[in-house]
Amino acid sequence: MPVSGLGEYDDSNVFARILRGEIPSRRVFEDEFALAFHDIAPQAPIHVLVIPKGRFVSLADFSARGSAGEIAGFWRAVGVVARDLELESAGYRVLTNMGEHAGQEVPHFHVHIFGGRPLGRMLP
Ligand code: 5GP
Repeated sequence: MPVSGLGEYDDSNVFARILRGEIPSRRVFEDEFALAFHDIAPQAPIHVLVIPKGRFVSLADFSARGSAGEIAGFWRAVGVVARDLELESAGYRVLTNMGEHAGQEVPHFHVHIFGGRPLGRMLP
């Protein structure tokens, strides 16, 4: 059972469809734990999404139900993606929206990687 307020995992959500290859995406990384692809509406020069391969609706769900291997593999992938995008020297931001107050739109856990320019303050 998912633990967040987002309900049961919905296999028709857009990221599930991207994982299954039903919707095209500009992929930058894939391994057994994670898939990374460019956001369709970038909010920075580099805006990449990293998602776990498992059926998790949010960070709350992933942190509660993910196995140690899935959690380690996912976060290692986030670091690898940022490194492969050559963001380490200038720096980057990682963000996840969880639930209603954060405005989470897609109910498959994901983190945003932003980079390519100074990103300003953390919240508007
Ligand atoms: P959230 O608000 O859930 O944290 O972020 C969802 C993100 O998914 C948004 O930045 C949005 O632009 C992105 N997105 C929504 N649909 C698609 C899609 O079909 N393809 C890609 N690549 N990104 C998407």
